[in-house]
Amino acid sequence: MTLRWRLTLAFVLVVVVPLVVGAVIVSKALPREVQREQRGGAQTSSRLVAQVLRDFCDRARATAEAAGRASAGAGPARAQIAVSSLVDRGLADAVQVTDPKGVVVAAAGSQPTAPTDCARASTGSHYLSAVITLTTSAGKPAGTAVASFQVDGSLFDSVRAAVADGEVVLIDANGGVIAGTRAVSPAVVRAAFTGAAQKNWVSGFTPPSTGQPYGVAVLLPAAQGPGVLLDATLVVLLAIALAVVIAVLSARATTRPLEQLGVAAARIASGDLASGIEVTSKDEIGRLATAFNLMTDELRSYVGQLEASRDELQAGLARLGDTLSSTHDLDRILHVVLESAVASTRATSGMVLLLTPSRDELVMAASKGLDEVPLDLRVQVGEGVSGRVAQSGDAYKGFVEQSRVGELSGASVIAVPLKSSGTVIGVLDLFGAEGFDDADLATIRTFASQATVAVDNVLLHEEAQRLSITDGLTGLWNYRYFTMTVAKEIERAARFSRPLALLMLDLDHFKGVNDSFGHQRGDAVLIELAGRIRGEVRDVDTVARYGGEEIVVILPETDAEGAAQLAERICVAVRRRPFGEPGVPPIHLTVSAGGSVFPHHALQASALLQRADQALYEAKRAGRDTWRIANGSSVAH
Ligand code: GH3
Ligand code: MG
Ligand code: MG
Repeated sequence: MTLRWRLTLAFVLVVVVPLVVGAVIVSKALPREVQREQRGGAQTSSRLVAQVLRDFCDRARATAEAAGRASAGAGPARAQIAVSSLVDRGLADAVQVTDPKGVVVAAAGSQPTAPTDCARASTGSHYLSAVITLTTSAGKPAGTAVASFQVDGSLFDSVRAAVADGEVVLIDANGGVIAGTRAVSPAVVRAAFTGAAQKNWVSGFTPPSTGQPYGVAVLLPAAQGPGVLLDATLVVLLAIALAVVIAVLSARATTRPLEQLGVAAARIASGDLASGIEVTSKDEIGRLATAFNLMTDELRSYVGQLEASRDELQAGLARLGDTLSSTHDLDRILHVVLESAVASTRATSGMVLLLTPSRDELVMAASKGLDEVPLDLRVQVGEGVSGRVAQSGDAYKGFVEQSRVGELSGASVIAVPLKSSGTVIGVLDLFGAEGFDDADLATIRTFASQATVAVDNVLLHEEAQRLSITDGLTGLWNYRYFTMTVAKEIERAARFSRPLALLMLDLDHFKGVNDSFGHQRGDAVLIELAGRIRGEVRDVDTVARYGGEEIVVILPETDAEGAAQLAERICVAVRRRPFGEPGVPPIHLTVSAGGSVFPHHALQASALLQRADQALYEAKRAGRDTWRIANGSSVAH
């Protein structure tokens, strides 16, 4: 059941229940009250009727007295005239005068048989009579005079006229009906007579009394549902209908803002933070809507911040990704990693330190915003925050107190190790004025692993690079590197008009070494030979394995004389002591060399090489363990 329906029901109940209870009470009490009123009216009516009867009785008595007076001492004829006159004048329906013996002296009208005086209760007579005893002036009985009204006649019309409403029933002392306005069932009459309650009639009853011989019952049909009750029912129904309509409207008015609130909450739950709720009132719901809008604003700004920091992180990662994929410049990569890490956290500065090959020292590889820290900072492993992190391999989050190793002092710091295959290769430090939290730590770990991947990649790349241009056995440059370098060096020499010499070397009778001592020993000799040659040349010279046991040396800034000197030195270095480690049979060897000089002997690398090869051939032919410079050399041997 929805809130709206519950409210509607509550409103309806609040209004309808008292209304219905009131209506029931009124519908019960009203008829009772009305009937009580009716009863009072009937009682009054019956008393009025009794009064009318009493008046008739008085009139009958006056008429009887008049008849007695008129006939006293008069003859029968005159008495008859007087009596008839009384009836004619309407003073009674019947008048009769009798003598003391009961003989009728005069009579007019229809006489009742055995009339009784109306001063006493009637026992069945349909005449209301006044019976007076006549006496002579001497006090002797002089007969009776009777004046009667017929109850069913004009008397009853007068009686009826005294009652505005209802049935009038005159009852004698035995309960018999003497006269009635209409036939009323005997049971009703009896009930009226005895005063018993009855269902459909309301009665008022006045018993016979002196001067009035009949019990008078006035009966009214009991008012069951007076018209007002119907009106009241209609009003109640109308009120209920009105209450329902008002309840529905007011429940709707109450719940509509709540529904709007619900809709807005659902909208926000689905991610739409743009729209708020219209605040239309200052009541509780209005306050709730205001609070809701505030909450949405807060949420919006929070989400905005989150989005901004996410965008920053994404931008940092994208920049990092671009850099990683586009360059193998370790310096640049580390700077980008560092910048992204600083931008994505609350850090203001930071640095990347890498372990030296000896793994006992960290060297600054990149820094950002660290003017106080020297660019060539070196930190011993185990010292300072960075050194301890490098040693333990665990991240650190806290403060740099008093740093004795040149790190930033008094700042918040997060330091995480850069680990490649479980081995620490460096440390990434971030510094800030505010403390860092776990989210910062998680972020910096991401960047640290990026940095590690970058360093790994660069080292791998460098290794691959190195392998692609070095000779696997001797560690000298290989033929590929030689061809690249010689071309470059010739070009440079040409540009600056400088000389350049090439020296081609070939071990003498080397085949015999393999044959006598095996290939492995031959390889070892080649490695030793490479070392001896490297020991004789300058750093700027390029020593490359040309193929087999032939080695070529590029000598920038060197003319024929210089080439000859070097050739000689190498011959001496090979010849001077036998090859081999202590414990293995020594091998005495010699080497032959041939040289050529740019631009003197040739301008192209291939031609220059050919000239050197020819000179080598010359040296071999000359008996080996010697050197030759190409023809045309200024230096003769
Ligand atoms: P020469 O004095 O005329 O130079 O005589 P030589 O025996 O040295 O003849 P050559 O220079 O033609 O010999 C090349 C020999 O060098 C062939 C091969 O047995 C040996 N050799 C070439 N490359 C290698 C290598 O990488 N390892 C070993 N162990 N021997 C090699
Ligand atoms: Mg050879
Ligand atoms: Mg040889």
